[in-house]
Amino acid sequence: MQRLRKAVLLIAVTFTLGGLAEPLATPATTAEAKSTKVWIAPNHGKKYHYAKRCRGLNHAGKLKHVTLKWAKHHHYKLCGWEK
Ligand SMILES: [Zn+2]
Repeated sequence: MQRLRKAVLLIAVTFTLGGLAEPLATPATTAEAKSTKVWIAPNHGKKYHYAKRCRGLNHAGKLKHVTLKWAKHHHYKLCGWEK
């Protein structure tokens, strides 16, 4: 299972780098849940991400930008890569 995930990740990374090379934004870490925006992948588990380019989102498909408050309210948890 882990091996498969890595393979998928590699393909996704390659695709992402070729497709959309966005500058890496460094989000300020103010613990203000109302104004902090995070990324979620509604069709890919219950994790939220500060960085849109996070590895955890590479194969997530459709993304949604929501407030941290919203994500927590809907039982999303911080992704494993950003702990
Ligand atoms: Zn993440």
